[in-house]
Amino acid sequence: MTTLGDLPVRDELRGRSPYGAPQLDVPVRLNTNENSHPLPDEVVEAIATAVRAELAGLNRYPDRDAVALRADLAAYLGHGLSVANVWAANGSNEVQQQLLQAFAGPGRTALGFVPAYSMHPLLALGVGTTWLPGVRGDDFDLTPGHAAAQVRERRPDVVFVCSPNNPTGTALRPDTLTAILDAAPGMVVVDEAYAEFARPGTSSALALLPGRPRLVVTRTMSKAFGFAGGRLGYLAADPAVVDAVQLVRLPYHLSALTQAAARAALAHRDALLAGVDSIKAERDRIVVALRERGHMVADSDANFVLFHVAPGRHAVGRAAPAADDAGHVVSPADAAALTASATDAGDQAAVWRALLDRGVLVRDVGLPGWLRVTAGTAAETDAFLTAIEELP
Ligand code: PMP
Repeated sequence: MTTLGDLPVRDELRGRSPYGAPQLDVPVRLNTNENSHPLPDEVVEAIATAVRAELAGLNRYPDRDAVALRADLAAYLGHGLSVANVWAANGSNEVQQQLLQAFAGPGRTALGFVPAYSMHPLLALGVGTTWLPGVRGDDFDLTPGHAAAQVRERRPDVVFVCSPNNPTGTALRPDTLTAILDAAPGMVVVDEAYAEFARPGTSSALALLPGRPRLVVTRTMSKAFGFAGGRLGYLAADPAVVDAVQLVRLPYHLSALTQAAARAALAHRDALLAGVDSIKAERDRIVVALRERGHMVADSDANFVLFHVAPGRHAVGRAAPAADDAGHVVSPADAAALTASATDAGDQAAVWRALLDRGVLVRDVGLPGWLRVTAGTAAETDAFLTAIEELP
C-alpha cells in the first residue's frame, strides 16, 4: 500500500499530522471553543428560507465579491467601516491563509507570541512561510517593550497577535498592540475570534484602523454567533488590504449557500448573540470555582478558561527577566526555562484522560501542566466542575 511517505510531498510536510482536536462523541464537549447553544428556532427558519431562495440559482456561480454579505458585516462591526474595508471567507482560518499568501509566502517570515493560536504557524507552513516563534513573559504576559523588541529584532513580514489570546484567554494590552504596530515593518494581524466575549473595559483593534493600512483585524462567526458549522470568517482593514487578498482568493470561494446563510444569521444577530452573556457568566463561574480549589487560572476575555491542573502549585509567577522591558529579546534558553517551570507541576495528559473518562472532553494544548476548557451551558459547567472534584 502506498503511504504518504512514498509520495513526493514537500520536505517540510514530511512526518507531520493534520491539525485537529479530537471530535469524540462524548456527553460534554468542551474542547474546541464552540458555542454550546443550538441556534434558536426562529433563526433556523430564517436561514432555511434564505438558503432555499438560492437553490434554483445554484446553476450560476455566486457573487465572487460577496458584496451584500460584506456590507452586512461592516454594519455589524460599526467603527465607520464599509464594504470596502471588509473581506469574508470560509472561516477566519481561510482569511488568515489569504493574508499570508498575499503578504508572506516563500522567502518571507511570520511571527507570533507563543502560546497563541496553533493554526498560525501551520498556516505559515502551508504557504511556505518561515515561522518565527516569539515568546511571552511570566503568566503569559506580553509587555510592550518585550513584544516590540522581538518584532524589531526579527523584522517579520507578518505579525500575528491574538486578542483575546487562545489558549490563555486574556485580551492583549492596548499599549502592547500599539508598540507592536510602531515596531512592525510589515503587516500586523490581530486575531479577534473571541472579541464578543471580552470583559468590560477591553478595547478592539478596530478602533486603531484609521490611518494604519498595515493593520488587519480578523473576526469569525464561529464563536459568539454559534455559526461554526456555517464557516464564515472575515477581516476589517484598509481597502488596499482587501484588494491584496483578492489577488490570491480562489474565484467564487464563498458559496451562495454560505453567503445567504450568513446574511440571515447576521440579520438575527440579537437572537444569536443573546447567549453571549450567559456564556461569559459560565466562564466566570469556572474561573472562580477553579481558583477556589487553588488552581492557577489565566484571566479570560474569551469563552474558555486555561487552568493549571495541579491545585495549590505555583509553576509561574517568578519575575520576568529585567532585560525584557529594557528592550532585549528573551533567549531560547530563557524561553525554555519559562516553559520548564511548569513541567514538574502536574501531568495534564493524565488529567485530560481522567476528565474524558468522566464524559468531559477538554483541550490539551500541549502546555505542560495546563488544560483549556470551553465555557458553555450551566449544565456543562456543572459536569466539568463535578468531574474536577472527582479527580484523584
Ligand atoms: N482564531 C482563533 C484564535 C481561534 O481560536 C479560531 C478557532 N479555534 C480561529 C481563529 C478560527 O476560526 P474559524 O476558522 O472557525 O473562523
